[in-house]
Amino acid sequence: MIQPVPLLDLYEQQQKVAETIRVGFEEVIEASAFIAGVQVAEFEQRWSDYCGARFAAGVANGTDAVELALRAVGVGRGDEVLVPANTFVATAAAVLRTGATLVLADCEQEFLLGPVTTDRAVTVKTKAAIGVHLFGQAAPMETIRSALPEKTILIEDMAQAQGARRHGRRVGGLATAAATSFYPGKNLGAYGDAGAITTNSEGVAARLRRLRNHGGEHRYEHIELGFNSRLDTLQAVVLNAKLAWLDVWNQQRRKAAETYDELLGSVDNIKLPRTLVGNEHVFHLYVVRVKERDRVLRELKAKGIEAGVHYPLPIHLLPAYSFLNYRRGSFPEAEAACNEIISLPLFPGLTLVQQERVAEALIGAVGK
Ligand SMILES: *Cc1c(COP(=O)(O)O)cnc(C)c1O
Repeated sequence: MIQPVPLLDLYEQQQKVAETIRVGFEEVIEASAFIAGVQVAEFEQRWSDYCGARFAAGVANGTDAVELALRAVGVGRGDEVLVPANTFVATAAAVLRTGATLVLADCEQEFLLGPVTTDRAVTVKTKAAIGVHLFGQAAPMETIRSALPEKTILIEDMAQAQGARRHGRRVGGLATAAATSFYPGKNLGAYGDAGAITTNSEGVAARLRRLRNHGGEHRYEHIELGFNSRLDTLQAVVLNAKLAWLDVWNQQRRKAAETYDELLGSVDNIKLPRTLVGNEHVFHLYVVRVKERDRVLRELKAKGIEAGVHYPLPIHLLPAYSFLNYRRGSFPEAEAACNEIISLPLFPGLTLVQQERVAEALIGAVGK
């Protein structure tokens, strides 16, 4: 039986950092500094530098990062927060957890939020909007910004685009605050759940440090209602070790994406991902569009190709979000995309032979 080609394989990354992390773990265990160890502050410094932002606050996961970013800029009950209809559910859930009203918008170019659909969704209550850098490339933040009222706060969800650039600047420093996830499968992943927020605002950074730690920066100080959402020291050790490799791994992802472009470029019936002008893509996912997607997916599976769908339904068609009272047809672009998208295997360490097998299987399936 021929080996399947996995959607994601972390083995290559693990090989590079295993020893550094083992030594780092021993230090943490020796010092018993499991919460707020020096490695956390070290990572926060490195992460903010990397993103080109002044401050970073580590938190427990990416969903908390989005929620706390919103809370830190003052979002709460009575406010509307604008989110693209086609994102991972966490972006939407985080908005609702603040007590704010979730307002969805359709996507435009390359599955990303844009100025036209943003403009359509804005009301007098739009307190914030979240630009999601989906699949590894930046949303066109400056055009989204121009479609928002001046008082509306723009936030980035950069969980899928760590290291990506727009007009030369890294995501994470393109808006008032930027939330990320270090879920193991992200371009920069921990050994479990972890997340962070970057910001250029000293006030937002200070508020984040309170919100994540029971409402106060210091023990038994509770200035406001807070949460327990800290970045574990052990996870900071992993992230420090892996951050040193992120650009190398992103370059490998781009190279693999180019190889898919070459292998699939001349085939009718397969629509390839495009990089927007001004963007440097980091290919968290390589997402193609095909007709008869479910059949194509079944044929890939039968040939041992573990492709994925990110995501099968837009937010408004998920059962948990039916209360929002959107309908099928509310966001035609996002809905059409959900029926046609396939994420092909892509990760650092993916071989040319594996990519040729993926391409051959896909070309065979769409040609029928
Ligand atoms: C992964 C992800 C999140 C949430 O991250 P968790 O760490 O799993 O909570 C949020 N938004 C997007 C776009 C994501 O891909």
